Amino acid sequence: MSQDAGAGRFAPSPSGDLHLGNLRTALLAWLFARSTGRRFLMRVEDLDRVRPGAEERQLADLADLGLDWDGPVVRQSTRLPRYGAALDELTAAGLTYECFCTRREIQQAASAPHGPDGHYPGTCRRLTASQREEKRALGRVPAVRLRADRTEYTVEDVLHGRYTGAVDDVVLRRGDGIPAYNLAVVVDDAAQGVDQVVRGDDLLSSAPRQAYLAGLLGLPVPVYAHVPLALNSEGKRLAKRDGAVTLADQRALGHTAEEVRTALAASLHIVPAGTHASVDELLAAFTPAELPRTPWVFAPT
Ligand code: GLU
Repeated sequence: MSQDAGAGRFAPSPSGDLHLGNLRTALLAWLFARSTGRRFLMRVEDLDRVRPGAEERQLADLADLGLDWDGPVVRQSTRLPRYGAALDELTAAGLTYECFCTRREIQQAASAPHGPDGHYPGTCRRLTASQREEKRALGRVPAVRLRADRTEYTVEDVLHGRYTGAVDDVVLRRGDGIPAYNLAVVVDDAAQGVDQVVRGDDLLSSAPRQAYLAGLLGLPVPVYAHVPLALNSEGKRLAKRDGAVTLADQRALGHTAEEVRTALAASLHIVPAGTHASVDELLAAFTPAELPRTPWVFAPT
């Protein structure tokens, strides 16, 4: 496979074990990449929320499921200079400003980067140099935000078609100095040659701001496929507390990784339930147009 073939990726945050919804998204990302002749890359998004041992277990589970990836695993924690360089470029172009809003407000924005809620109202956009100095003198350490010149942007998504969503003055570097997810993801996807982003549709609303940011940095915008999430029987996003939701839990119930993979593939309508299929057979049967468009409700047995 040539470097020019483009690449897809899976980008887990090592904050805990992957659950069946995450594994299903990973399987889809692999199928989308491999079925289009792309490389498939593994990127560990470890700038935040790292739980010791989680990365190793996540990668082992993905491999046990039959997924493979090209090249070494990339960890965001090793790439800080790249994010700094992108931030400097935006700053040199007058496209950033310091934001002194309280830590709590910044945390709210950082912990909910995926939703349309929590848009920053631009409070610190027009601070004068002396106002900034005053805030510094109070000991406030600023975050850095994008000076967005529009409020929405349109992306193309394989499953959602043309999608227009909000763009705001997104945090690029948090008050604690850590590059924000939205900057790191854009920088890394471009640097790694990722031209196909397959991920859960909780991130669909983030795609417009990421695509907009890519454009400001002169980077190409990937093709997106935001896939339906897994929900619990109450219609809420699947979580660890919802029963036997990890591969380890499933194994404890006597199910092999192959059986779990097949069950996930059946939930995606790639094979009928109960059919055993190798990853190559799944690849041969994979038809994106036939994927279910509604969430998968996982009811533990
Ligand atoms: N690390 C993010 C997550 O686990 C995924 C980011 C992405 O795929 O763009 O939710």
